[in-house]
Amino acid sequence: MSKPKIVVLGAGYAGLATTRRLTQKLMPEEADIVLVNKHNYHYESTWLHEVAAGTINHNQARVMLSDVVNPRRVDLIYDIVVEVKKDENTVVLENSELTYDYLVFALGFESNDFGIKGMGENALAIEDMDSSRFINEHMEYQFAKYKNEENPEEHSLNILVGGAGFTGVELVGELVERVPQLCNKYDIDPGKAHIINVEAAPSILPMFDEDLVEYAKKSLEDRGVEFRIGAPISECIPEGFVVGEDEELIKAGTIVWTGGVKGSSVLEKSGFELTKGKVNVQPDLRLEAEENIFVLGDCSWVWNHEEDQPYPPTAQLAVQEGDVTARNVKALLRNDPTDDFVFNDKGTVASLGMTDGIGSVFNNYKLQGKSAAAMKKVVDNQSLFMLGGPKLLLKKGKVRPF
Ligand code: FAD
Ligand code: NAD
Repeated sequence: MSKPKIVVLGAGYAGLATTRRLTQKLMPEEADIVLVNKHNYHYESTWLHEVAAGTINHNQARVMLSDVVNPRRVDLIYDIVVEVKKDENTVVLENSELTYDYLVFALGFESNDFGIKGMGENALAIEDMDSSRFINEHMEYQFAKYKNEENPEEHSLNILVGGAGFTGVELVGELVERVPQLCNKYDIDPGKAHIINVEAAPSILPMFDEDLVEYAKKSLEDRGVEFRIGAPISECIPEGFVVGEDEELIKAGTIVWTGGVKGSSVLEKSGFELTKGKVNVQPDLRLEAEENIFVLGDCSWVWNHEEDQPYPPTAQLAVQEGDVTARNVKALLRNDPTDDFVFNDKGTVASLGMTDGIGSVFNNYKLQGKSAAAMKKVVDNQSLFMLGGPKLLLKKGKVRPF
């Protein structure tokens, strides 16, 4: 008799955690496990703002999948998922098709431009390793070009970041360190380059308490960031953002949109029922209509009953969902009841560059400054350690001096 086939789509936090746990929980004769991913590497999505700013080398933020998944237990397929045909239990890849008995859908996030005119065409976005590397290369090109032109446009050295949520502010925190390096490298007066962060809401980082937000804003302003708060972006043209009621045009040579994310577009292509760009799942993380499909990480909403709203999409949520999914797939294979997902919230930290940050951890214990930056590195290093033990930590860990 053939073995049941478990197909995991995506080797981000959720998909990789599920796959690795499945290999620990199941005997080889119990099921075939297949992991499909676009690339032959896993990247730390939580480090992508550093790749985009160029404050770390992109190789530090990625790990070969064959080094962290046992290829004897898992069939690794490097291909692009095009569509899931739920009625046929089939996944269409760019180069082949796969059937499944159980599917774990974990294809992560894409940038959400909320239909803002010109945003998709004219702004760059942090979506994966390649798009983040592109931002870094584009920004550096602007500096090299400026220096090489007879009458360069002054605004070409401006870097415009749209949205001051987590991603926008963390990116700006890296940029304040990177831009002086670029000015130095291309012999440009540092006063000519400007970092401008535009936010529609009345505050940056609304998820943090006011005192931490004030700290973050002042710290970044002191290092040269210009915030435009309460300034909704209504359009993006090749020269910059159109902002506010008076439709002011803020010009820049590098334009990055960090205004929000949604689940993979494969969800929509496959006819999944979407709520604000993601699917709602049952407490055990399965779809109500298709009980052999789990949807994890940034592709699903999981309800937080205490706060009567979904949990925000984060890496720590995605990893914990992977753990319970592996347990639940095993339960289904053995005809046991599944477990409901319970989130263990360890807190949140936002970096403001290499040596600064803010955070709220261990039941609202507040951190700011170097202690928050150190905590962020502990979290980043822990993620590497979980994947590849001390060897990977030594090779790629963050050990910057304070
Ligand atoms: P992802 O990590 O996005 O993984 C998806 C995987 O699927 C990727 O490997 C991708 O290549 C692959 N894939 C996508 N489409 C296809 C396709 N069609 N075919 C094949 N493969 C495909 N969260 C925190 O908790 N803490 C943080 O400090 C933090 N910092 C962040 C910083 C930044 C700059 C960003 C952008 C996000 C940050 N987050 C943070 C959020 C966190 O990164 C996401 O919530 C998390 O990555 C979601 O995990 P996932 O497994 O759902 O998806
Ligand atoms: P977000 O939704 O958290 O923030 C987007 C920001 O853009 C918001 O402040 C929003 O008001 C603003 N915005 C939206 N439309 C706008 C417009 N037209 N004009 C101006 N501003 C506009 O998105 P994100 O920062 O990409 O984060 C996505 C998720 O990833 C979050 O839920 C977060 O939990 C997670 N994340 C976590 C960390 C961390 O824990 N350190 C870091 C990055 C991302």
